[in-house]
Amino acid sequence: MDTSKRYCEVADLNSMADELRAIRHHIHQHPELAYEEQQTAALVAEKLQQWGYTVTTGVGRTGVVGSLTVGDGQRSIGIRADMDALPIHEQTGLPYASQHHGKMHACGHDGHTSMLLGAARYLAETRNFSGTVHLYFQPAEEHGIDSGAKCMIDDGLFERFPCDAVFGVHNHPGAPVGTFLFRKGPFLAAGDNIYITIHGTGGHAARPHLTVDPIVVSSSIVMALQTIVARNIDPAQPAVVTVGVQQAGAANNVIPHSARLELSVRSFSAEVRALLKQRITELVQQQAASYGATADIDYRMGYPVVINSDRETEFAIQVAQELVGAEQVVPHTAQLMGSEDFAYMLQARPGCFLRIGNGTGEDGCMVHNPEYDFNDRNLPIGAAYWARLVERFLAPAG
Ligand code: ZN
Repeated sequence: MDTSKRYCEVADLNSMADELRAIRHHIHQHPELAYEEQQTAALVAEKLQQWGYTVTTGVGRTGVVGSLTVGDGQRSIGIRADMDALPIHEQTGLPYASQHHGKMHACGHDGHTSMLLGAARYLAETRNFSGTVHLYFQPAEEHGIDSGAKCMIDDGLFERFPCDAVFGVHNHPGAPVGTFLFRKGPFLAAGDNIYITIHGTGGHAARPHLTVDPIVVSSSIVMALQTIVARNIDPAQPAVVTVGVQQAGAANNVIPHSARLELSVRSFSAEVRALLKQRITELVQQQAASYGATADIDYRMGYPVVINSDRETEFAIQVAQELVGAEQVVPHTAQLMGSEDFAYMLQARPGCFLRIGNGTGEDGCMVHNPEYDFNDRNLPIGAAYWARLVERFLAPAG
């Protein structure tokens, strides 16, 4: 690092804090679900255009890319922020709470987008780098299947807006605001989604012997599934099998015809992932058969493991340490069982996915909770981080 050169500090973004908060609150008030991010994308595109970026909309349906080249540097960097909200009814009671019933920014993507916009403005005004920066504003991170990152990549993201390395961030409730969390190698788990229909034979509640009760079958399957992680997976390997949906029946005097289960399954290795698929399939089919029922299994492989490349992660850690001091940086965070579709971008390019603390105690409400809110104090910190990362990555030689 050339120490004579001055790079972005958090203090440089403080004058922009009010503006970023206003942008964040506006996005928060108008949450849009996966691939419906029309207003959010329009706001992002308008700001980027205003600040002098070359803007491309409709990348991966509702995605937006802002590109800026300064000087004659040949290197390029990509930074991604996600824009979508969740189908949750907000219960924060905040003055800027969601105005759209049943939709909410409960994962802080409003904050991720606002932090990257802050960096965008700063970089365009200061132009203290040589090379090309591409800002990827991505739709539909929460989509599970055919999500926004994959959609943008399939739409030619890395051919049309090529970068030497790609970076992304997610807020992290439970860690102090403004702290940065990293991990080289596998960081976030692969997440698969399984949809199961149990077909029985419905009938009268008082004549169970003439039916095949799918409620009893599905209950037995739910219990049997608990043995997979406990008895089939190596205890030294992380894995999760969660039944998030169990649905059947509509009246107490009716044995229904079918029952439905939906599972979320997480893992870190290809072997464990394959074994989970094999055991879940066997167990569901054979349990159902043992009761005289049948099962349809729709096993959808979701996001792959988020794997951070060593060199880019080392670089990202260094930039965080310069910006906020080593005591605010955790270089070796434990693996997380959550999943992220940024994994697809990291399959295509080297890079690093990092986490920024969203607060502890009362501020530590977990994401996907109706009382969650992104912490505004992170806006200038996160924006300064992205700005400095770009300046350092694209620092002119000599
Ligand atoms: Zn999220």
